[in-house]
Formats: sequence, structure tokens, C-alpha cells
Amino acid sequence: MYALVDGNNFYVSCERAFRPALNRCPVVVLSNNDGCAIARSNEAKDLGIKMGAPYFQIKHLEITKGLVALSANFALYGDMSERMMSLAAGLGPEQEIYSIDESFITLDGVRNVTRRAWAIRDRIARGVGIPCGIGIGKTKTLAKLANAIAKDAERKPGSYPGHLARVCNLEEISRSELQTILEQTHVGAVWGIGKRISNQLNEAGIANVWQLTQADLGTIRRRWSVVLERTVRELRGESCIALEDAPPPKKMIACTRSFGHPVEDLGPLIEAVSEYGSRAAEKLRRQRGLAGQVQVFAHTSPFRPGPRYSRSIIVPLLRPTADTALIVRSAVDGLKRIYEDGYQLIKAGVILLDISDGTIQQCELDMGEASKDRSALYGALDKINMRYGRGTLHLASTGVEPVNARWEMRQERRTPRYTTNIEEIPVVRC
Ligand SMILES: [Mg+2]
Repeated sequence: MYALVDGNNFYVSCERAFRPALNRCPVVVLSNNDGCAIARSNEAKDLGIKMGAPYFQIKHLEITKGLVALSANFALYGDMSERMMSLAAGLGPEQEIYSIDESFITLDGVRNVTRRAWAIRDRIARGVGIPCGIGIGKTKTLAKLANAIAKDAERKPGSYPGHLARVCNLEEISRSELQTILEQTHVGAVWGIGKRISNQLNEAGIANVWQLTQADLGTIRRRWSVVLERTVRELRGESCIALEDAPPPKKMIACTRSFGHPVEDLGPLIEAVSEYGSRAAEKLRRQRGLAGQVQVFAHTSPFRPGPRYSRSIIVPLLRPTADTALIVRSAVDGLKRIYEDGYQLIKAGVILLDISDGTIQQCELDMGEASKDRSALYGALDKINMRYGRGTLHLASTGVEPVNARWEMRQERRTPRYTTNIEEIPVVRC
């Protein structure tokens, strides 16, 4: 058996944990550069705000409906996620962190599963301030489905029986009730079934989940795929998708951003690329990898008037490395080669390619510049930045504030980093 623990409207809930005045207000969190809504409170959903709605299209609701729009505060969400995950892990023996706000947990040997799920939900609500939905089922696909039912039963009263709200254990309901519930559920609600397949299934007369569970496996495999067949087996209670406890190391690491304002000069571009290179190198060290090549790119907006420019270059490294200084130097060298004057650039990025496992070392006879092992230096740098906040120690070429304000992204409505920056912890007065 599996459980899926999922934070409700996660980014909004993180904001509300520190600003209870936002409870019951329509709230959205905006993407980078305050572009569009990437998280919505239930009240914002009820106003008809769609996922991905551009901010300028919903801005008027701030005045007419009291909408609160906030810049994304990823430092806060990442930290709150870790806290939530560590409490969720108490539900069972193994956990797979599936996304920032979702984790699967195996329930082998766990007794009183439903009661325990309620207790964990309560612990997360009290300890972290995030409301969760918990779905429980025989397979991962069923746990996902149960979670969707738990959420709908809570948000839209009447859609499902009220006793399934917040914590829904499909193993504890009678066969006949289960059939009724699955008949009420559209196939599009199933994990892994997107719009296209859901339309095709509808055309084939399979509209709800119950009908899908009754479909012939051979037909599903022939007309669609073994992947969909696996989904149907999972819905029938046959476990086909195992827990993945550690994601495989990335083959490529990218750090790219849109600028808050268009950038034309080389100076601020070098700062931006140095910063992105540093971030990418830090991610690389976290997975104990070494990069063989560095790609750097920059381009103008495809939507703005004016001359267009889009170039990229790959710079091979002398030998595979995770050394920030070497990676940034190659990225900046590449940037200087592709840079041309007179363009309003809005985005740049650094991508590390040809990533190998840093625990395996290929030795060579050093004929040229001695390769200094600076892993101890970077170990210390990463630790300091982890403890005192990102950018506490950095390469000089990333620039010194307020100079880098020229390219940093717009985040005009960001709340404080309450849990990760000592300068920004909430002050409580009594
Ligand atoms: Mg969620």
C-alpha cells in the first residue's frame, strides 16, 4: 500500500503560514519576473483565475476583489517543503519525494493506516502550518487518485462523499461505494493520463475511471501503449510502478533566467553569466559530478520590437571539473565571443554538459598548468552559503550590489525569506 501526501495550494499555503491575514483572501503567487500565476488559493480559483494567467490580465482583481499577488519566494518554499517532507516521512517505512509538495510513502507493516494518516496530517498542520491532503491506495496510481478525491471532496462539497475529504483511503470503502466513486471520476483525473489520451478514451466510449478499469488490457496495449496498460493494471490494484527513492543524477544542469529589464552592455551580462555559472557549479557539486563542457547563450525577446539576436556557444573544459572559477571563466570566455553590441537582451543562461561521475577519476600526466584541487575550498564555500544564505561568498565577477540590480529579475512583491535568512525572520510583538 502507498500513501501520497500533498500540500494544498502549496506556495500559497507557505505564504499564509507566516501571514495569517491572507487566510480567506484570494491569493496568487507569480512566476519569475512577476509574469503569470503559478499558484492559486481556492478563493483565487473561485474568481476564475486560471493556472498560468498573465499578471496583467488579473491585476484589476486586486482592486475589485481584494486579490493579493505575490512574487515567488522559492527560498521559503524549498525550506518549508523540507520541513513538511520530514514530518510526512513518519507515516511509513520509505518515502519518495515526488515534487516540492508531494511525496509517496510505502505503508508496509503500518497499522491503523487511516488514523495514522490523520495524525501525520495534523502534525504537519501544527508543525509547519501547511494543510495537506492524503490519498491511500494499493498502488501509486490509486494513491494519487485517492489524493485527488480527498482534495475535491474538501474543496467542492457534494462532488464526493464528505467522509473522503482530506484523508481518503480507498482500501477502506466498500466495493459498491468504490464503483460509484470511480464512475463519478473522469479518466483525465488519473495520474499519467493527459488531455490527448483522455479525449481518445472518451471517443472510444471510456469516459470514467470505472470504465477504464473494466477495459480489455490487450485492446488498451494495442490501441494505446504499454504505459497506459500499466496504468490500468495499477488502477485494478496490481502494483507496477515501484518507489524511486533517489532521482538519477542529472545528465545536464542548466541555470537560465530572464532579466528584470533588457540588458545591452557586456558588463552586467558578465555578472549574470558568472552568477548562473556559479549556481550551476554548486548544483553539480551537490550531485558529485564533473562537467566536460559549458554552454552559454543569450537572446533578445521574440515579442519585443527591435533587432533580433540569439546565439549560443559550447566551450569545452580542459578536463572535467566542478570548479566554479574554471566553469565561470569558460562561460564568460564564451559569452565574450558571442556578444555583439546593440541588442536588448532579455535572457541568458549557462548549461553544463557532458557530466560524469566525480567519484570516478581519470588520471593524466600533467604536462601543462598544474590542476589545483580546490574541492576543499568549494566544500567550505557551499557550506557557508548553505548556512548564511545564497551568495554570501561568491566570485567577484558576479558583481556587487547594487550593480547587479541591472539584470536581476523582478520580484517586487516577494515576502521575506522567513525561515532561511536571519535578517528576515518574523518579528513577533505582544
Ligand atoms: Mg499540491
